[in-house]
Amino acid sequence: SSSPSSVIIIGAGISGISAAKVLAENGVEDLLILEATDRIGGRIRKEDFGGVSVELGAGWIAGVGGKETNPIWELAHNANLHTCFSDYSNVRYNIYDQGGKIFPSGVAAHSYKKAVDAAIEILREQEATSCGTQSQKNSTTFLPKTPIELAIDFILHDFEMAEVEPISTYVEYGEREYLVADGRGYEYLLYKMAESFLISDDGKIVDNRLKLNKVVREIQQSKDSVMVKTEDGCVYKANYVIISVSIGVLLSNLISFTPALPKWKTEAIEKCDIVVYTKIFLKFPFKFWPCEQGKEFFIYAHERRGYYTFWQHMENAYPGSNILVVTLTNEESKRVESQPDEETLNEAMGVLRNMFGPNIPNAASILVPRWWNNKFQRGCYSNYPFFNNNQVIQDIKASVGHIFFTGEHTSERFSGYVHGAYLAGIDTAKTLLEEMKDDEEANLLLEPLL
Ligand code: FAD
Repeated sequence: SSSPSSVIIIGAGISGISAAKVLAENGVEDLLILEATDRIGGRIRKEDFGGVSVELGAGWIAGVGGKETNPIWELAHNANLHTCFSDYSNVRYNIYDQGGKIFPSGVAAHSYKKAVDAAIEILREQEATSCGTQSQKNSTTFLPKTPIELAIDFILHDFEMAEVEPISTYVEYGEREYLVADGRGYEYLLYKMAESFLISDDGKIVDNRLKLNKVVREIQQSKDSVMVKTEDGCVYKANYVIISVSIGVLLSNLISFTPALPKWKTEAIEKCDIVVYTKIFLKFPFKFWPCEQGKEFFIYAHERRGYYTFWQHMENAYPGSNILVVTLTNEESKRVESQPDEETLNEAMGVLRNMFGPNIPNAASILVPRWWNNKFQRGCYSNYPFFNNNQVIQDIKASVGHIFFTGEHTSERFSGYVHGAYLAGIDTAKTLLEEMKDDEEANLLLEPLL
């Protein structure tokens, strides 16, 4: 047990750090950040692999080049972070069949148009339903069946729907995406942010207001204080708490609440979809894939939806690295997380041999992130349905007494993104500062009566 703080922040991802920074800048210096792992960053995390630094979590600054500036783009610019433009415009013309032939552009364009039209139709129907009008019939229900249709359906729905529905990130900040390719990692932005209000020494945060390896297990709220217990038996007290853990962790019951969270809160949390997104990195002794312009991203069409579909080479980001990345999502992600990496390597090699022939070399190493089985994450990011009734997000975000909620999943406009998490942290801190002011004024009014 230690002396009480004004505010305890649970989680040192970008939302927790940005919230703490706003509090510190506004005079709340007796704050405490409790982080379960041995590092700050959360879902922003680099790892050294095959001689370069790869991003296991967030990799792109999404939404650049528009009328407003993405705040993360600005932070990256100020930190001189090296990034690399991702050109997706040709991806539909780089679709391989199982015999290694690229689909003729006419076939690809036709399948693409069919899938986009179908997706638009489905959205219109949902819109009609959510507005209360009965949708007449399921008119053209296009069901992707062939490998190429399944592949296109996968990239449209599991990656970007921007061609189908307006996504605030791209509408407001622009349609470009830049891949972070910097030895210091995407997480360098977080260190810079933390350093601005926490004591650091030689590139390391040494401030005792940041406590690492502190797994919060219990939060007890009484009338005007909150008690936080960690797995190692420590107890911390504060006037207010900000929780920045992921929606997956909130669902998992890792943290228990006394009194229990109200029903409107738990029900809202249960309504949010969690996406699992796995970037598998493969290191080769040499390149056997095309590297000309427009070939950075390529697609493998298989009869199983999402089976090693989406590929990227890292030569634009790190020339000479000989690294390929394949991205799996949701059920496929969960499947590979539960099997040995050697099996995943064999599957990926089988797919690559279908595309590039039997004589390509085996990968020398493989890296498979496990976000789903990570008990401090339980998934990658939240996904609200497009015609989402805004109430769900409001309820997920709303405070319960002196407990405040933040994180990417509390961002109305940019949930799922780094900038969403960053702005959510700022927003939650501002709301809390207002509440602290109100509470203080109420106390001052009461004082003469006591
Ligand atoms: P987190 O970063 O998860 O921070 C929460 C912190 O809480 C973590 O550090 C966690 O360890 C800690 N914690 C959990 N439980 C406890 C506990 N009981 N006690 C104490 N601490 C606890 N976004 C983009 O903009 N572009 C991308 O390209 C992109 N790609 C992505 C790819 C992947 C694979 C993933 C996983 C995410 C991706 N995202 C991307 C999303 C982006 O990473 C997140 O939206 C953002 O980093 C979330 O930040 P946060 O602060 O809300 O949560």
